[in-house]
Amino acid sequence: MDNSIAQIQTLHPRLRQIALQAYQEAVKNTPAGVHPIITEGYRSFAESDKLYAQGRTAPGAIVTNAQSGSSYHNYGLAIDFALVVDGQTNWDEHHPNWMTVVNIFKKHGFTWGGDFAGSFKDYPHLEMRFGYNWRDLLALHNTNQFIPRTTYVRI
Ligand SMILES: [Zn+2]
Repeated sequence: MDNSIAQIQTLHPRLRQIALQAYQEAVKNTPAGVHPIITEGYRSFAESDKLYAQGRTAPGAIVTNAQSGSSYHNYGLAIDFALVVDGQTNWDEHHPNWMTVVNIFKKHGFTWGGDFAGSFKDYPHLEMRFGYNWRDLLALHNTNQFIPRTTYVRI
């Protein structure tokens, strides 16, 4: 099921319109039978704690190295996307239209997880930093100056 618009609505207010425009542009620029979906936007600190525990202090396989507060998702400043190809969700970053979507979001100012330095690449991930690193955002969060999804924010 396509929750793309609902996921975009979870983003930081300053990012919603930008993300919506990029998303609609990506939909327009993918061929018949292929379109992007936004699979995740804002993720709470509690959800991040739970994901981080998986494979460490909770059952399951390790799925993330990001502790809560170190992901732009925690501030409503990141999305993950996938393609839908002939009705099937497709996470293959080698699909010819994967970079179509990435390049449109990059044009709108997003940083792509596939461009992360070092060995850790996060191909479905796109984040908007607005000039802040996550430590800046965490410091704002910890002093109640950053509340995701409200307009009471410094950025
Ligand atoms: Zn992500």
